[in-house]
Amino acid sequence: MKITTQKPVLKDDALYIGDNGRVYHGRCSGMSARFTGLDISGQKVEPVTQYEIQADPELWKCERCE
Ligand SMILES: [Zn+2]
Repeated sequence: MKITTQKPVLKDDALYIGDNGRVYHGRCSGMSARFTGLDISGQKVEPVTQYEIQADPELWKCERCE
């Protein structure tokens, strides 16, 4: 029996852009995106950099937390 210890590709607390410009945490991205780094349409989920967040913190909020 093969035991897979696959780790999430996305970091839980980091913000990402996927699903046509939506912003969400790694942990809120859903199982598929979290482990493959691809959103529901197969596009790569892009990480939001600390620079971008610091430049405009109000803009970068997870859409799936609240
Ligand atoms: Zn979130």
